[in-house]
Amino acid sequence: MVKETTYYDILCVKPNATSDELKKAYRKLALKYHPDKNPNEGERFKQISQAYEVLSNPEKRKIYDQGGEQALKEGGVDGGGMSSPMDLFDMFFGGGFSGGNRRGRERKGKDVVHQLSVTLEELYRGAVRKLALQKNVICEKCEGRGGKKGAVQTCTTCRGTGMQVQIQQLGPGMIQQIQTICGECRGKREIIDPKDRCKVCQGRKTVRDRKILDVHVDKGMTDGQKIVFSGEGDQEPDLEPGDLIIVLDEKEHDVFKRTGNDLIVRLNIELVEALCGFQKVIRTLDERDIVITVLPGEVTKHGEVKCVLNEGMPMYKNPFEKGLLIIQFLVNFPARIPPEIIPALENCLPPRPMVEIPELAEDVPQAKIIAEFIRKKP
Ligand SMILES: [Zn+2]
Ligand SMILES: [Zn+2]
Repeated sequence: MVKETTYYDILCVKPNATSDELKKAYRKLALKYHPDKNPNEGERFKQISQAYEVLSNPEKRKIYDQGGEQALKEGGVDGGGMSSPMDLFDMFFGGGFSGGNRRGRERKGKDVVHQLSVTLEELYRGAVRKLALQKNVICEKCEGRGGKKGAVQTCTTCRGTGMQVQIQQLGPGMIQQIQTICGECRGKREIIDPKDRCKVCQGRKTVRDRKILDVHVDKGMTDGQKIVFSGEGDQEPDLEPGDLIIVLDEKEHDVFKRTGNDLIVRLNIELVEALCGFQKVIRTLDERDIVITVLPGEVTKHGEVKCVLNEGMPMYKNPFEKGLLIIQFLVNFPARIPPEIIPALENCLPPRPMVEIPELAEDVPQAKIIAEFIRKKP
């Protein structure tokens, strides 16, 4: 039993969640509540990051499970060890070579992360998906200058530092220096005369642009896999553009459940099929029909599993190799059998064992036998 479940609740998972489930939960929520998409959910984004940071670390998770948030604080795990929500996000989603390293990224614009929902069929067969997205691009009209050529001037108020020093007289012979962001250029170090300002971007140098991208979903790609479009992120003047990172989100399938490269399907069969053999048709994810035959003479038990080689998911980058199709058979037992056919039925089945009833044995009345009993926890 865990002491408190707050972190699990924040990530919408059960306290026994696996590390994969935690990853998936963080991925979904962090993308949903990222300040770029949801500027009013900053606090939520922070909580999600904190919860994931603790629960994704086996040591911290153990401390948290045993003693809750209090134990983390007492153990000194909280605070110093925490990375900022943005660093965690960059580390988790970081594409290409940019990684999560802030220092190396200073010369680059922001990465843009998008989630793309894909069906199991698309991951099986491969697909090209059109994705419409918005991003900042350099304004074409002013070529990213923000105004006419020569219109951009170094701010004279702050002499291009972006900062202003104010001197306050606190009393006789006592002065205080306060550094503030320059009020004239708002820290941008330059000013553009309003009459020369670019009409298209209003001097912002970039504009929002809608772009449609072809995303190639390759056969065998997996949930959470990233597709990186290098240099397709936000553009900013004098910076290398950031990357566009597409994160795949596999939708649940009605029939097949994927685990790694294997597919699991549950197949209901009737009792007569379980005892006498059967044929079943399974429609594959590329819409072929494959026939499963169990010959007469072979009995299929309830819950029994059979595997078909090379009918699972294709391997990524090696799509002719496929995983297993794992079939689990579930036998439908009839609710009742007409008593008059029982002798004939019994004749066909293996004989029942002899039961010797001791002389003083007590009969349990039918009324005392119930179908199911769920014991309540104390
Ligand atoms: Zn200034
Ligand atoms: Zn412009």
